[in-house]
Amino acid sequence: MIIVLKPDCTEEQRNDFAAELEDTYGVSVNTWVGAQSTVLGLIGDTACIDIDNIAANDIVETVKRVQEPYKKANRKFHPDDTIVTLPNGLQIGGKQLSLIAGPCSVESEEQITEVAQRVQKAGAQFLRGGAFKPRTSPYAFQGLKAQGLDLLNIAKKKTGLPIVTELMSVRQIDLFLDAGVDVIQVGARNMQNFDLLRELGHIKTPILLKRGLSATIEELLMSAEYIMAGGNENVILCERGIRTYEPFTRNTLDISAVPILKRISHLPVIVDPSHAGGISWLVEPLAMAALAAGADGLIIEVHNNPKKALSDGAQSLTPDQFDHLAARLKQAAPLFGKTL
Ligand code: PEP
Ligand code: MN
Repeated sequence: MIIVLKPDCTEEQRNDFAAELEDTYGVSVNTWVGAQSTVLGLIGDTACIDIDNIAANDIVETVKRVQEPYKKANRKFHPDDTIVTLPNGLQIGGKQLSLIAGPCSVESEEQITEVAQRVQKAGAQFLRGGAFKPRTSPYAFQGLKAQGLDLLNIAKKKTGLPIVTELMSVRQIDLFLDAGVDVIQVGARNMQNFDLLRELGHIKTPILLKRGLSATIEELLMSAEYIMAGGNENVILCERGIRTYEPFTRNTLDISAVPILKRISHLPVIVDPSHAGGISWLVEPLAMAALAAGADGLIIEVHNNPKKALSDGAQSLTPDQFDHLAARLKQAAPLFGKTL
């Protein structure tokens, strides 16, 4: 961290401030006194320092971080890609392109097993399906909750596909662990539910962490940091579109977040083109773009009857449309160093 002091700062003020920084934060301070200004360089772990607190000091002109505030998620300290491995040996990250597919919400045994069988046949390695749904309206379908987890397990038994499903509250962690959920999704709306993130740091289940609706890339990584700091390093980042002024799409897929995240973090990065575009015909081109941008996988909503879906029907692919997309991904994946 670099702190530029105001030109009228006295030597005594400067020395007191440097001593206070060393004392409070356990860093060492290097001082450069120039003709126009004085600069303090903080050496050591500055991650816990609140930059606004420093900036609020009367003698401080500007403050700049030269070190990222995220450590565990930072590629600088972990140059190799992280590959998340499930107990059954399936991996997310590395050479394999991961395909996670299934309905927005689990609705019935027939629906989830039919979709599971179809997406598996097309090449998906994971089944998604929401049992606890974060809906904007409290009057909209809220999910089948615990029963939804049971139905996911029935589909898992029939297909062998591991389950990816969203957890909304700390209160449901034990239920999810008892249900044997393979990958726990933290949805966009909960990306900064810090209590939840902290608790998920204490379990071993991989966490699929979705980017918040208006979260910056650094904020996403800081949320990953919450989970990792607790000891759970199995975090998968997910770009799912952010809110912009463009009303044509549900969200704007921030495609540049994919290569940026891959560059600055070692965690696997997947893309959700369904919630990004919000329109079924946009899913395929956005998915292809994600593959080209370097994504490690895709999470895609598929419904056996989108017109009748209880949530997100407009953006859901039919199983036939998913077949088409999976075939194209399979064909294109080797061009981008992936296999499917
Ligand atoms: C979902 O996956 O169905 C979902 C609600 O996603 P997001 O949190 O990205 O909106
Ligand atoms: Mn959805």
